[in-house]
Amino acid sequence: MLCAVANGGTEEIDGAARAAMAAFGTWRDTASTERKKLLHRVADLIEAHGEEIALLETCDTGQPIRFMSKAAARAAENFRFFADRAERASDGLALPTAGHLNYTLRQPVGPVGIITPWNTPFMLSTWKMAPALAAGCTVVHKPAEWSPVTAMRLAELVHEAGVPPGVVNVVNGIGETTGRALTEHPDIKAIGFVGDTRTGRAIMRQGAETLKRVHFELGGKNPVVVFADADLDRALDATVFMIYSLNGERCTSGSRVLLEREIYDEFVGRLAERVRRIRLGNPYDPATELGPLIHPLHLEKVLGYVSAGREEGATLVAGGVCPEDAADGNYFKATLFGDADRSMRIAREEVFGPFLTAIPFDTEEEALDIANDVDYGLAAYLWTSDVTRAHAFARRLDAGMVWVNSENVRHLPTPFGGMKASGIGRDGGDYSFDFYMETKNIDIALEHHPVPKLGNG
Ligand code: NAD
Repeated sequence: MLCAVANGGTEEIDGAARAAMAAFGTWRDTASTERKKLLHRVADLIEAHGEEIALLETCDTGQPIRFMSKAAARAAENFRFFADRAERASDGLALPTAGHLNYTLRQPVGPVGIITPWNTPFMLSTWKMAPALAAGCTVVHKPAEWSPVTAMRLAELVHEAGVPPGVVNVVNGIGETTGRALTEHPDIKAIGFVGDTRTGRAIMRQGAETLKRVHFELGGKNPVVVFADADLDRALDATVFMIYSLNGERCTSGSRVLLEREIYDEFVGRLAERVRRIRLGNPYDPATELGPLIHPLHLEKVLGYVSAGREEGATLVAGGVCPEDAADGNYFKATLFGDADRSMRIAREEVFGPFLTAIPFDTEEEALDIANDVDYGLAAYLWTSDVTRAHAFARRLDAGMVWVNSENVRHLPTPFGGMKASGIGRDGGDYSFDFYMETKNIDIALEHHPVPKLGNG
């Protein structure tokens, strides 16, 4: 056991939501320059505690320290980015017409609920919380029950920075009870949720009675499409990185690689070599590339997909087992299946582990068809040196985000989110404020125009 964590119930959620409601008026009316200053101070503290946060995160999740050591820097960047935008968050448009001036402005929606998953918990908490706070919303945060530790640390740092009490509240607990209570609370005006698609559906139902505004960042089965004309060395590096980094527990992981038939055998052969050499081990060792999966139940789920792949007739090329020498922990070897087709579960369902499925294709049309033939539509990666094909193909992909000749490289002003079963809404830049704020239109008459008269005849 790592530590004991309180399991908040309906009462704790109610207390937190009331605190968020009580703090809302003051936080909303705090000058945006002051909010900006406070959020930068949070970023400073995150940076100052970067090593501690990385160690806690590795301890809590099993994510290798080589990746978690960057988590605090990225989390601080989230706060700085939205701090700098706080002053412009309420900006709107001037929409003049004959005799009237219409102008819009944005105002924070009120207290919001933020519900996050366990894969990169600290980074995701900051990604959701920073824009809400910059917008002037107060927050009740319910972190994942498998990774509760760093959210508490974040709340402590937020308070240490001087953010007033009640503005950020954290309640740990189980999704189906604590999380549910948050989504049903009448004082909570919106839910920013990151997690599984099925949970998103449940939250939509739970929030219906109180007409919750929802923002969903859900699962993915993201294709990496590699054409024969691509820079294959770079495509190989990026394919390996996008599925085996962060333990494969990554919503934007490239979990299906679609390979043009003429390069299929060679590319899968080179992939297999690399996958077999991925260093699995103690997540605190800076040399480790793949740590233990977060929970025995998750390991069981991933192993279930190994059985599914075998039963459906795909070829297990590498991994697929737990290492024999792993004394303790949910260690699972980096896994590659080949000769898959689109109908198989390993080609359609999100495994959320270090598990890649390779699928051959013959034509561009077939590649597009396979890429789009899943329920999800979060991210897609395209490798080709044909610029016309790159543009045309990217437009037709069912994905909220497409990277061409690149792994996932984030630029915070760009919209982040998915289509189909991968989500509703976008985060990043100004898109986040659209969710956390109401847009209001104000119409001012500029002259004494004739007002229609009734009962005056
Ligand atoms: P999950 O949906 O099981 O849990 C996420 C959160 O929801 C947890 O805090 C959980 O306690 C809570 N929850 C569960 N049931 C609930 C309910 N009925 N009401 C309210 N809250 C409830 O997801 P997970 O297994 O923790 O995370 C993995 C999933 O997250 C994957 O599908 C992954 O793709 C997705 N994810 C998406 C993104 C993205 O940006 N699109 C990013 C990271 C992870």
